[in-house]
Amino acid sequence: MAAVSNFGDEIKADRKYSEFSAWHYVNFPADKDYKDVEPSEYGDLVIGINKCIEIITSEVSSKEDKAFYLKFLVHLIGDLHQPMHIGRLEDKGGNDIQLQWFGRGSNLHRVWDSNMIDDYGMSFTELSNSLPKISKQEVKQIQKGDIYVWIEETQEITNEVYDSVEVGEKLGYQYSYRWWNTVENQLLKGGIRLAAMLNDIFK
Ligand SMILES: [Zn+2]
Repeated sequence: MAAVSNFGDEIKADRKYSEFSAWHYVNFPADKDYKDVEPSEYGDLVIGINKCIEIITSEVSSKEDKAFYLKFLVHLIGDLHQPMHIGRLEDKGGNDIQLQWFGRGSNLHRVWDSNMIDDYGMSFTELSNSLPKISKQEVKQIQKGDIYVWIEETQEITNEVYDSVEVGEKLGYQYSYRWWNTVENQLLKGGIRLAAMLNDIFK
């Protein structure tokens, strides 16, 4: 599963999959709920996740299609937990907020997509093994709700993240130190909720 989890990003390089590029995120105003806003005509994270579930659970879709959308679903539940994937339209989920990351040009989206995790210096396996150990009860608590509730929860973090930087700011250790717990928790929640979703689909 770890090996396919980046599949959704890998196919971005292939034009034939361009129709899926808007599925990785959803942008809507910070003071609104997803359900209050007209969805993008190009699709969004919610539309993408629901489409994946529809095809995986359909009796008429092909084995190949089911495999494709299952791999995509694994990826999208991860994206849902990256705060900048539930961002603002006007700065493209933080992509237009230019920053310095350890003296190099970056942006707020990239800091959260990869800079913090890459520079933590662990392999993905080491990182997943080092995530906080939680009880069965805590797992159940995290798995409550649905993608709309989870998006709302991520968006609360998004708002704090937007407030955490100034354009052009020089970020480094201090920023990672402040946010690393959040990064770990979001990774943990993403995995645990993906498990709940797959249990539900394949029950
Ligand atoms: Zn993605």
